[in-house]
This record gives sequence, C-alpha cells and structure tokens, in this order.
Amino acid sequence: MSLDELNKEKKNCRKCRLCETATQAVPGEGNPRAEVFFVGEGPGFNEDKEGRPFCGAAGKFLDEMLKENGFSRDDVFIGNIVKHRPPGNRDPLPDEVEACIPWLNSQIEAINPKIIVTLGRHSMHHFLPDAGSISLVHGKAFKKDGKLFLTLYHPAAGLHQGNLKETIRADFKNIKKLMKIVK
Ligand code: URA
Repeated sequence: MSLDELNKEKKNCRKCRLCETATQAVPGEGNPRAEVFFVGEGPGFNEDKEGRPFCGAAGKFLDEMLKENGFSRDDVFIGNIVKHRPPGNRDPLPDEVEACIPWLNSQIEAINPKIIVTLGRHSMHHFLPDAGSISLVHGKAFKKDGKLFLTLYHPAAGLHQGNLKETIRADFKNIKKLMKIVK
C-alpha cells in the first residue's frame, strides 16, 4: 500500500483513546522513497495543531542538523511512534503504542528505508528493547531483522540540556557515514 493510501485509511483512526483529545492525526511526512526514516515519540502541541511532525522548537533543531548534513526534509521521512498527541505531552501508554504500531510498520514497509534513526529513548526502546541506556548507546548503529538502526537522543533533549546539543550534532553525523557503508 502507498503512503497516501495508508494515510487515507488511517487518518480517522480511533483505535485508542488518544484520538479523543488530539486535534488530528500526524502521519509523518517526507520522501516516499527515503533512505533515512526518523522516528520520534509522538506529536506535541505544535504538531497537533499543524498536522505535521517536528514543527516546534525540537523540529527547528532537527531541521538545522538536517541542513548541516546536506539533507532537506524532502530527502528523508519523519514520523513518530504514535500519531495522535498524548494529552499534556505525557508518554504514550503501552496499549496506545500497541494500537498505533501497525501504522508505523506499514510506513516502514512502504518506504523500505536503509536506516531507521530513532529519536529519543522511547523510540529506541520500541525497536531495540535490549539496547540499554540511551546515555550509553546514543550515536551507535544496530542491525536487527535486516534493518540498520541509529540511536540518537531526542532533539528536545538538546534544548533542555544544553550540554547535549553538541553530542546530538556529533551523533547526527553518523547518518552520512552509515549511508556510505550501506550503499
Ligand atoms: N517530538 C516528537 O517526538 N515528535 C514530534 O513530532 C514532535 C516532537
């Protein structure tokens, strides 16, 4: 199924309680043939209003890093574990993640990216439950089920803890290095 078909089918999803408090689903956006698929946690206030992923302060930092590494948003795909905003930006609950994951899995299947970049520990632990603490494994690559994963801190972490900003920038550079290896 194409991404457009998927969005049409899923945009009115009511499989979990998050649709009751969110304004709209935020399916994600980008290149349907992206080699790099970024997976955040879930929409926040701005994303819920605009219907686009990472369009607040964390998104600005993500855009900066994309540009520094020669990417635009049109080159990559940016999505999230859950597609509706959890109220008050709380962490998504396990049953909400479980209800939403088939949508993400279908997106990954449709795009078939070379690298999945997890943004933050929730995204990392979804794909790599045994990876350990993000403070130890950030910036590292993992191979699992025939896919390559790169685990990054969430860009918002760099905004809240200024000392992480340069770490995140440095880890982000590993995307290009990995792309050369998997080409
Ligand atoms: N944080 C996320 O994890 N995803 C977004 O889309 C925005 C902020």
